[in-house]
Amino acid sequence: QAHLDRIAAVDGDIHAFLHVSDSALSAAAQIDRRRAAGEDLGPVAGVPLAVKDVLVTTDMPSTSGSRILEGYLSPYDATVVARARAAGLIPLGKTNMDEFAMGSSTEHSAYGPTHNPWDLERIPGGSGGGSAAAVAAFEAPLALGSDTGGSIRQPAHVTGTVGLKPTYGGVSRYGAIALASSLDQVGPVTRSVLDAGLLHDVIGGHDPHDSTSLDQSWPSFAEAAREGARGDVLKGLKVGVIRELPDAGFQAGVSASFRAALAVLESQGAEIVEISAPHFEYGVAAYYLILPAEASSNLAKFDSVRFGMRLEVPGGTVEDVMARTRDAGFGDEVKRRIILGTYALSAGYYDAYYGSAQKVRTLIQRDFDDAFAQVDVIATPSAPTTAFKLGEKIDDPMQMYLNDVTTIPANLAGVPGISIPSGLAEEDGLPVGIQFLAPARQDARLYRVGAALE
Ligand code: GLN
Repeated sequence: QAHLDRIAAVDGDIHAFLHVSDSALSAAAQIDRRRAAGEDLGPVAGVPLAVKDVLVTTDMPSTSGSRILEGYLSPYDATVVARARAAGLIPLGKTNMDEFAMGSSTEHSAYGPTHNPWDLERIPGGSGGGSAAAVAAFEAPLALGSDTGGSIRQPAHVTGTVGLKPTYGGVSRYGAIALASSLDQVGPVTRSVLDAGLLHDVIGGHDPHDSTSLDQSWPSFAEAAREGARGDVLKGLKVGVIRELPDAGFQAGVSASFRAALAVLESQGAEIVEISAPHFEYGVAAYYLILPAEASSNLAKFDSVRFGMRLEVPGGTVEDVMARTRDAGFGDEVKRRIILGTYALSAGYYDAYYGSAQKVRTLIQRDFDDAFAQVDVIATPSAPTTAFKLGEKIDDPMQMYLNDVTTIPANLAGVPGISIPSGLAEEDGLPVGIQFLAPARQDARLYRVGAALE
């Protein structure tokens, strides 16, 4: 009730939610009854959870921020949502996002932007700005996000929250409306590293419904966070800092906060090691070919027949109906990427664009392999700037894309990454995050290090 009251009080200004559940209270009462009857429900039962609208739910519409899916009701729950419900978490509502998770500011939502609770004139990050803003504004203690190129970590960075992108295959994508299937991962957005671990323990692990799901057991991430918080995990930890990360484009306060965090790590016994990742900076270029290519294919299913909106064309052919529906249903950024992706995949251009981008992806993966032969984790600022003003970059896609320079490489390589708050930038008083990256399957290391520094 307290969270619903908070939503009623502040969400008119913040617009973190696209839909608020009308069954949250009855679900909570059910948990109360089971607990009163002596059932052992585990650590998160009864805790409210905000769910990014990219995840399908049976009891609330799922739009992925797009007009084309307005009012769409899924016949099944995403695996992460089903697991959350089974653990007693209470889905509180669906959160706003850039359309089909394309963006870094939530301004590409068909339903209007979300506002950053720290300053309502600024962006809450994207694409999962709704989830991060809901957590930062105390509308929800926990949220689910998805991260294809940074959409969990960059919103966490600009809202002073914790966000973790798991190892590719660590969390099921079943029921996550696909953006770019080789990059997408679902993960937690929370106010502390321990909370993220608690949520990750619930949603993670093998799912036969997702062919890319890793069939292995995972350690408890909550336990890893607790170890980090009490132990001396930073002693002797080798933290890699990338030599080639271009200094240009990084806001002074972001760089200063990053250096201060490194100094804290060092004072706790960590060793800062300069490493070379020469292809890291080409991540953005490779990503903005691979992502549109995969997205153009994934979004072909919105054909006015199988899902969502259909606009009739009297006397028209089925192609006319598809064209009219897709024209009206998709926003500009989605159309831009479908066109880019279709072009990059077309015969004659495939080798020049998509093929080259895949080669760069392999080089970035090798950079990570070399780096992790020398260090335990890599640290970077989570994003180049603090929250920018709403409207500032909306007409300049290149500027928007460059915001993802530090987050994208982890998606290309499939490795896990966490953003945790590292203070406020001196010049504007806005939150800054530090990102840690670990080798694939070593998500627990990020919880240990994150909780130790938090
Ligand atoms: N900003 C990135 C993009 O626009 C991130 C998207 C994501 O992680 N879903 O593609």
